[in-house]
Order: sequence, then structure tokens, then C-alpha cells
Amino acid sequence: MLRVVLIIIDGIGDEYIPELDGTPLEYASGRLHTLNRMAKEGICGIMHPVAPGVPPSSDIGHLSIFGYDIEKEYPGRGYFEALGAGLSLSKNEIAFRVNLATVREENGYLIVTDRRAGRISGEDAAALYQALNKALHEEGIPARVVHTIEHRGVLVLRGDDLLGAVTDTDPHETGTPILAAEPWRELSEDYFEKARKTAEIINEITMVSYKILSVMDINASRMARGLPPANVILIRGGGMAKDIVSFMERWGFKPAFIAAGALYKGIARALGMEEIHVTGATGTPDTNLDGKVDGCLRALDRGYDFVFLHIKGTDNLSHDKKPREKAKFLIRIDQALERLYGLEDSVIIVTGDHSTSSLRGRHIGLPVPLLIWSGKMRRDRVEVFNETACSSGGLGTFMGRDLMRIIMDMSDRSVETGTRPEGRPLQFHTER
Ligand code: ZN
Ligand code: ZN
Repeated sequence: MLRVVLIIIDGIGDEYIPELDGTPLEYASGRLHTLNRMAKEGICGIMHPVAPGVPPSSDIGHLSIFGYDIEKEYPGRGYFEALGAGLSLSKNEIAFRVNLATVREENGYLIVTDRRAGRISGEDAAALYQALNKALHEEGIPARVVHTIEHRGVLVLRGDDLLGAVTDTDPHETGTPILAAEPWRELSEDYFEKARKTAEIINEITMVSYKILSVMDINASRMARGLPPANVILIRGGGMAKDIVSFMERWGFKPAFIAAGALYKGIARALGMEEIHVTGATGTPDTNLDGKVDGCLRALDRGYDFVFLHIKGTDNLSHDKKPREKAKFLIRIDQALERLYGLEDSVIIVTGDHSTSSLRGRHIGLPVPLLIWSGKMRRDRVEVFNETACSSGGLGTFMGRDLMRIIMDMSDRSVETGTRPEGRPLQFHTER
């Protein structure tokens, strides 16, 4: 059996970008030595992470790729974000993902002008989260916020009869107002009441955040420097603790992961993967790519037979509509991956959790390219790694939920259908 390295380059796929006359990956692909070599010596394909035409959020994209049923096993994003932030949720707590964001007042509404407040980070972001925590405490709202990376954080509500099934306050686009959280429409009466109560608290927290954050000195000084103030929080993706079958139990691997973003850590932790720490891993384009590859090799040395390596920066650059920088970052990733080429007794898979448009700055429903390499193996005619080339690959087009079965097969773990060899060895007794 072969060991498995699954490299997820977040938001790797893209759409046609006029200034590059192609996607960022196509634009970069002339300079992708390692990935092209692997594509040439391996087998490629194109994958719909969830379903054709469906733009997945990162957590749903990953869960689907890891072979989980997103209808039945998805606990809500907030749970992953909380785990990723190092929190554990008790039974009477629910969590949400939050962003520090920028709004301006207009006719009694708060118009979102930057959903990430210029990607505020470091001590400033931490101080704003802290100030908000203090305010929530003083207002007697049973809630706390925790800063994770850049503008991102987690909101935890405590109370009986809460439910995360409320709509996002984040309008997911700029130039439009912050939305009121509302209970999902399709809920039963009992659940609806819980969600209504939760939505009320969320809307109150939104107002408190604006009241407190908009008068902070940090924001005055940001504005003086021409930076957008982080004067509100956007709230989305409610979730609560849920027992999920571990990755080991489902697939039989001893898994490890390398990721910097809270969401990805949270997903991997929820599935019982062991964390490999890498200094300088930031979840942004300035991450320590070499360190991440080192971490991967270290994990394999330590006996893990499945390593999930996550690289986030590509998605950030697409959201920020920087296709040229995305292409440059892809070239850097390719250079860092060179040390994995030639890895013995291993299968390497390179793909993404969804496509992100660098033109529109959001996730889109186009499929992602995928390559599988393991040294000597069956090949196809693909010679470069990008969306167009992979679409004529030997694996054809398939769904994210099928990937783990393909990996099981390529790593020599599959079992022929129709056979059930899972019994215990039959003991043979000899009669005297
Ligand atoms: Zn993603
Ligand atoms: Zn994204």
C-alpha cells in the first residue's frame, strides 16, 4: 500500500481573465516545472467538488472531498471555525464565523464597503476583537468573540434553545447593506422559535459591534493612513458541536494535516487528523511554503500514511481580484513542491476545494483541475497542469465525493465490489 499526500490549493481553479488571456493557472503553467512533470507522468482529471455549477464554501468543498455526506454530516461552519480557533463547544453553545468589515451609514442602513476591512491583521485586529468582547460582557450579552487570522474570528453564543439556522448578516458583496439575521424559512415551529431568538441576539451583537468599533482610536488612525476602518462585524455560518465519524474510522488511514487557516484546522481536527505545526505558516500568500513541505515529509517519516496539506493564499488573491499575483503564487507553490517529486511509496494528489474567480472575487461553480502522481503508473496524454489540459485527462470528470475512492484505489487499498473480505481469520481445528 502507498502513502498519500493530498495537496489542496484553495480556490485553485479560475475563469478566463482577459488580461492574462486564460486562467491564472493557465497563465502560470508554462513555468510550473514540478506540477507539469507530475501531470505528464501521472493521471489527470477534472473534479466538481460538490456538484456541477455549485460554488462550494471551503468547508463544504473539503468535507465532500474527504468523502463525507454534506447533507447528513455537516455540522455548520461555525463548529469548524471554533475548533480551528482552539475552542471546544459545549452543548449549550453555538458558533459563527465573523469578519471585521467596513461599513458607512446611508439612509439608516450600514452599507458594506469592504467585507474584510482591508484584511486588517495583527495587534490591531486582536485589540478590536478584545474591545468587542468587553462591550458584549458589559451589555450582558452571553457571547464572546475570538480573533483567528487577519480579519477573521469566531463568535460563540451561549444559552439554552439557540440554533445556528439563521441567515448571514454578510451580504457577500460590497455596496449593499448589512442584512438582518433571520431564521431559515423551512424550519419546524420548534426550531423556528430557537432560530428566531438566535437571530435577535445576532442582530443586537451587530449593532453593538458598530457602536463600539466605529469610535475606536485604531480606526481613526487607520483612516488617517488611508486604510478602511474595521468598524463592524459580519456574522455567518452558524454551527454546533457534532460527532463526526473520524477519517481513520472511515478510510483506515492514520492522517495528519498541515494548515494555517482556522477553518481548515477545524475541519481536520473534527475528523481526528493530527496537526503538524509549521512555523511561518500564515494562511496568506506570504506563508512558509518550504516549511509546509518540510512538515509533510516529517509527517510521513513519523508514520502517518495520509497527509492533508492545505495552501490558502491562492483563494485570498482571487477574492482580492489579483489574478496576476495568483499566477505568481502558483509558481512559488510549484517550486516548493519540487521536493515532493520522486517521493517513494507514495501517491501525490494536487487539486482544489473549488474554483474562485479573480474577476468576480468569489467562489464559482466551475470544476477544479486534479493530478495524481505516484512515479510509475498508468498515464494519460496530459502534459501540463491547468484547467484546460486536465479536462482531457484519463480520470475524466468526477465529483468530489468520489475522490477518496479513487485515492483508495490508487494507493492499493480498494476492494473489488461484490466481495466482502472483512471477516476474522477462520480458526482451523484439527480433530484427534
Ligand atoms: Zn476554499
Ligand atoms: Zn474563498
